[in-house]
Amino acid sequence: MTESWDVVVVGAGIAGLTAARVCAEQGLRVVAHDMLAPGGRLINLGAVQAWPGGTPQGPEFAGALLEEVMTAGVEIAYGEVTGLTPGRPITVETGEGPVTARAVVVATGLAADEGALTDTRDWAGRGLSECASCDGPLYAGKKVVVLGGDEWSAAEALELAEVAAHVTVVAARTSWSAAAERAVGAAPSIEVRRGATATGLEGPSALAAVHLDDGTTIEAAGVFLAAATRPRRALLDAAGGDPHVLAAGDVGLPAHTPTLLAAAADGRRAGLAVVDLLSPKD
Ligand SMILES: Cc1cc2nc3c(=O)[nH]c(=O)nc-3n(C[C@H](O)[C@H](O)[C@H](O)COP(=O)(O)OP(=O)(O)OC[C@H]3O[C@@H](n4cnc5c(N)ncnc54)[C@H](O)[C@@H]3O)c2cc1C
Repeated sequence: MTESWDVVVVGAGIAGLTAARVCAEQGLRVVAHDMLAPGGRLINLGAVQAWPGGTPQGPEFAGALLEEVMTAGVEIAYGEVTGLTPGRPITVETGEGPVTARAVVVATGLAADEGALTDTRDWAGRGLSECASCDGPLYAGKKVVVLGGDEWSAAEALELAEVAAHVTVVAARTSWSAAAERAVGAAPSIEVRRGATATGLEGPSALAAVHLDDGTTIEAAGVFLAAATRPRRALLDAAGGDPHVLAAGDVGLPAHTPTLLAAAADGRRAGLAVVDLLSPKD
């Protein structure tokens, strides 16, 4: 029999988990699905920046968040949600088959900005990474390239500079803060190539070089996709404006420097909206 939920949350990052918790605390039956691991982008971060009152480590922060959410009664499910059919109820295609929900929160976040690269999948495990704190140590003493010019690209470059021999940041333009500009400028092993875009990756099996659109080539053993800019909107588009399908977090927020704080606040807003939507009306 198809399992029925009050609320299905897709994406267990900080936005989805916050929305799920708000709903569960109001007595709704809630499941949060994630195709990777609960915590979302948070689990890929070292020291979290721009969080009021401290710089927690990402994985510990994610663990504490998950514990609170499960204590509130949220169920966690693993696997990709591949489709959604609007209606009453809404049908959600999960890794374990279809389930139904009275409301769905889509909190699927942003995908990495691949720029002009078309073959990134082929390079996974051969030099391409989206996580400096996870994969940085693999490049100790080697040359790496960071693609992206936003605040978090600067943070990734600084983290990599602690282990790599040399870091080249390649960015069409940089939009990072003055503080990030100072920190990057003060790091002797970081070079910034503004006005350039990566167009291709090359290597016999592991990565050896990154080609740029200005015709130059950078020797590199690793390339990091540091900017996440593409909203994962497929499920929102499938919902066709169904008012019982709500966006939460980065996937629905206007383009700006995405932050955990904004995503958490938006998750809370979405959770409260779902509670209101599903409350009996007089
Ligand atoms: C390199 C980098 C460093 C950053 N550093 C900081 C920082 O220091 N401080 C800060 O405040 N912000 C930082 N940010 C931004 C912050 O991480 C995001 O704003 C925040 O994680 C967004 O939360 P979210 O819940 O909306 O999305 P996410 O954290 O991206 O979570 C989305 C989740 O949805 C899941 N998902 C997606 N599609 C599906 C599907 N179809 N089925 C099931 N699951 C799915 C994903 O697996 C993921 O777990 C950084 C971002 C980047 C890219």
